[in-house]
Amino acid sequence: KQTAKVMGVTFSKDTLAGTVKTIIGHLDKKDADYMHIITCNPEIVMASAHDEELRNILGDAGLVTADGIGIVLASRWLGDPLPERVTGFDILMGLLEEGGRKGYSFYLFGADPETNAKAAEVISAKYPGLRIAGRQHGYYKPEEEGRIIGEIAAAKPDILVVALGAPRAERWLYRNRAKLPVRAAMGVGGSLDVIAG
Ligand code: UDP
Repeated sequence: KQTAKVMGVTFSKDTLAGTVKTIIGHLDKKDADYMHIITCNPEIVMASAHDEELRNILGDAGLVTADGIGIVLASRWLGDPLPERVTGFDILMGLLEEGGRKGYSFYLFGADPETNAKAAEVISAKYPGLRIAGRQHGYYKPEEEGRIIGEIAAAKPDILVVALGAPRAERWLYRNRAKLPVRAAMGVGGSLDVIAG
């Protein structure tokens, strides 16, 4: 079995390396459709118990990883162990590495304007083989949402990286998925802040 259930949430049993491989395998498919990758932390697991939209988001996702050692420990206790914690930051690092080799395009959405710009700069310098298809900071006005979605749609990135915090990023991706012609999308929490340093 490729998945294990913890408190009603179905998690992938892939290791970090396996998870990155699975996503790359998806991206390498010629007609790859939309894959929402969710790195699910204990707060999301708890909240999903009384939040139907969150349960739908998790149920619809292409891949849900255990972003918290508590989830890994719980899976062991339940007798169907997950191999390790798989965080958004670590997946992003793996995708940037592979993206640099394969020339994937990324759209960076979220974090404050300075962090967003700096993260793009750091990533481009470190991985010259990949392309930043576009970027947008995460402190926009609600009325700008249409423009932002239009820009992402025009940029058609392989991977949409959303740094708006969890589970806000996950809700945003779920609600707008029909308008996003991207092949993979993932909320990455504060990863852009870490990259920008
Ligand atoms: N953020 C944003 N817009 C907002 C609120 C937060 O772009 O309105 C960004 C914030 O700058 C940071 C990320 O979202 O880069 C959230 O990081 P945090 O560590 O709070 O996320 P979590 O670990 O809770 O997912």
